[in-house]
Amino acid sequence: MAKERFTVLIVEDQPMNREILRNIVETEYDVLEAENGRDALALLARRKNVSAILLDIVMPVMDGYTFLKKLAESPFSSLPVIVITGDKDEATEQKALDYGAWDFVSKPYQPNILLLRLKNVIVRSQYYLISEMQYAYEHDTLTGLCNRARFFADTRKLLDSHPGIRFALMRMDIDQFHIFNSYWGEEEGNRLLRYMADELRRFAGTQEFCTYGRINADTFCLCIPYDADVIERYAEATRRGLADYNRNYLIEPSFGVYIITHPEIKIEAMFECAMLAAKECKGSFITHLRYYQPEMNEKVLREQHIVNEMQHALDAEEFVVYLQPKYNLRSETPYGAEALIRWKHPERGLVSPGEFIPVFERNGFIGKVDYYMWEKVCALLRRWIDQGVEPAPVSVNMSRVNLYNPNLIAMLTELVHRYGIPPRLLNLELTESAYMENPSVMEKAILGLQKAGFIILMDDFGSGYSSLNTLKNIPVDVLKIDMKFLSGEAAAAGRNECILASVIRMAGWLEIPVIMEGVETQNQVEFLKSIGCGYVQGYYFAKPMPVADYEALVRGVQQIPAQSLSDNHRAMTETIWSASPQINLLFNSIRQPAGIYEFDNGGFHTLRVNASFNSFFGYGESISSDLESAGSRLSTQSLQTVLAAFRKTAETRESSRCDYVQLRPDGSKISLRLDLQYWGANEKAKILFALFTDLQQPVGR
Ligand code: C2E
Ligand code: CA
Ligand code: CA
Repeated sequence: MAKERFTVLIVEDQPMNREILRNIVETEYDVLEAENGRDALALLARRKNVSAILLDIVMPVMDGYTFLKKLAESPFSSLPVIVITGDKDEATEQKALDYGAWDFVSKPYQPNILLLRLKNVIVRSQYYLISEMQYAYEHDTLTGLCNRARFFADTRKLLDSHPGIRFALMRMDIDQFHIFNSYWGEEEGNRLLRYMADELRRFAGTQEFCTYGRINADTFCLCIPYDADVIERYAEATRRGLADYNRNYLIEPSFGVYIITHPEIKIEAMFECAMLAAKECKGSFITHLRYYQPEMNEKVLREQHIVNEMQHALDAEEFVVYLQPKYNLRSETPYGAEALIRWKHPERGLVSPGEFIPVFERNGFIGKVDYYMWEKVCALLRRWIDQGVEPAPVSVNMSRVNLYNPNLIAMLTELVHRYGIPPRLLNLELTESAYMENPSVMEKAILGLQKAGFIILMDDFGSGYSSLNTLKNIPVDVLKIDMKFLSGEAAAAGRNECILASVIRMAGWLEIPVIMEGVETQNQVEFLKSIGCGYVQGYYFAKPMPVADYEALVRGVQQIPAQSLSDNHRAMTETIWSASPQINLLFNSIRQPAGIYEFDNGGFHTLRVNASFNSFFGYGESISSDLESAGSRLSTQSLQTVLAAFRKTAETRESSRCDYVQLRPDGSKISLRLDLQYWGANEKAKILFALFTDLQQPVGR
């Protein structure tokens, strides 16, 4: 193969000189010519293959100095330039060097010397280029840290040259970095990455044996001798540093550590292990640091198995419906059921959904599996109707993935239509976390489904972040309360019972039926009855069972829905939640702060307050914006006074009045008069109307 020839550009205005130079240079190189600096620059921009320049200084249009200056600012700044000078012209040489010239040749030209000098600068510049490319190839331009390839190579060397030391590979990234990026902008994202790189560099500076680098995006990696204390302290310091870095946004890192027990395996594999460990911290508010355990690998393998087998399992109908009855708590008889999936695996037996549903949710297969379950349930309902029974509703689970499917409503409608069953029999369970993830998408989907006739159950209510307050904004038909409220630690149990009672009371007033999940004991049953819970589901009454068992269980049983509200209660509800807009208007047009309270022996709870209550007390719209939550806002004496007034009206049904002092959020004190009126009662509590008068202000106008 012919040796590649480099190209030399001669910049010289005198044709005669150009001719001489060309004759010499041509013996070894390809030659290009330009008459002045400006033409040379234009030519460089066109021809990208020039390797060196021979430059005259005195030229018209653009002289050699100007050319050197412009060249230094151009993309070709690394091109070597040899300046042509007169004999012993030191002033020119000095100035040219100052402008970035590499070397000189003086007239008269000696061909050998000229060619040697050219060769030298070209070789040198090629080395320079290669090392620059190498650097760019091995380093990350944003942070200046080693990149993945270089980090892996350096770490390999580090391990090989210190066989006596046990090292650990530590991987770090930011949870949801892409969200930070889109929220604060890419520039802020880059600033954060540079901050992290600087911190990493600083820490590495304190270590005797250490490699570190940026693997990609927000992933950094570090290899140091294994010392659990050092690792923990570094992770904690980083976490704290990031928390301080942006006080308006919680930046949370995850650390995964692989202790290098087998230094001979590939660094890439070690990195994978650290990554598996880091994954375990994601979404956890407590753990930021995890060590790799061999089980993590097994988990990945298991997942892979599931993925390999899932389509076949679906085709072979290995997924089957189990039914867990729901019970009307008052009558303790079954009313409807929840369909729960089971995988009848030919080798592994009955596999529970906890093992495969999360995998399907990650890879999207859940869409198909859910639809399969819905169809099986529709077929069941059809069969029951054909057998002449009037079935109670069966609920199916709906993964959040489905809610992003624009055809969801059409698909479900087509399904119930095809099986000829009323949509109200197929209830849909949607987990609360899906709702919190994207309330507006959920609300739209829920409203659409309800319009199509389906009944929506909010599953796992209370497991996430929604407060009692969101209850009144959520357009669901039934609440399923998460079983964790029944299974709390002894210390939390009292608190949980309290929350549970409030939720059930609130839901009662909103006329939303409640199903309590995970009921396992007689005690729980008694407690739930005492707080007016409508339905329960749990091992105490029945475990999930094959369809045939369920059919046997409900055969001959009259399935009665829970009558959650007494008539009295219902009437009261209608008054208070004002099915009639007039009452609503009236309530809100009362100029003084007013509220409607539920009172039992334990105390009072706000059901509703009017607009001036909110503007007067300034507690916003919160349902707990009342006296009772204001333990700190009422002195013990005032609280006793208020309670006595409540008790009196509740017991005698007569109006009562008391004066007391209340603290406002801003710390100021106000003297208030409380007027109470008896409004009615339900099974558990009395309903009282309260009017507040500011004793410092003249009343009325
Ligand atoms: P989930 O919807 O909250 O279902 C209730 C889970 O609690 C079921 O577990 C049920 O067997 C269990 N359970 C019922 N009563 C008790 C009790 O008294 N004590 C205890 N400790 N547990 C009780 P399972 O069947 O293993 O299902 C687990 C989860 O898998 C379900 O939680 C649901 O989120 C999901 N899942 C099940 N089937 C499907 C399905 O067809 N599609 C989708 N997307 N998810 C499903
Ligand atoms: Ca469920
Ligand atoms: Ca649940």
